Amino acid sequence: MASEKEAALAATPSDADAPTIFDKIINKEIPSTVVYEDDKVLAFRDITPQAPTHILIIPKVKDGLSGLSKAEERHFDILGRLLYTAKLVAKQEGLDEGFRIVINDGPKGCQSVYHIHVHLLGGRQMNWPPG
Ligand code: C5P
Repeated sequence: MASEKEAALAATPSDADAPTIFDKIINKEIPSTVVYEDDKVLAFRDITPQAPTHILIIPKVKDGLSGLSKAEERHFDILGRLLYTAKLVAKQEGLDEGFRIVINDGPKGCQSVYHIHVHLLGGRQMNWPPG
């Protein structure tokens, strides 16, 4: 299987509204392990975990937000909701000693899926600087 970096470099930054595999996860057309869901966001376990806890938090409606670099003022609410949900899920997962939030953007940011998502990573000691 390709590394995350290879997958990111192979991914074509799609049109802001083009569907991605995350639409199939939202629509339950492909399985995922959902850990939190409401009418606006979905949180599910990453299929290739990089830490004991690795969860993706995504908006159910992309609304042009293929990545953070596409954010506009109309996205203020959903951007806040994604981060707040990450905090809720971190608590739910028992990450009381800390966790990391990552948003990859574009090829150099190692983004491979063009539907904005917040990575929540925890359950091990993180390092700095990141790779
Ligand atoms: O930030 P980036 O775009 O690289 O993250 C995409 C993430 O989506 C990867 O961590 C990958 O493992 C995850 N993924 C997943 N389930 C899929 C496809 C991708 O959890 N079916």
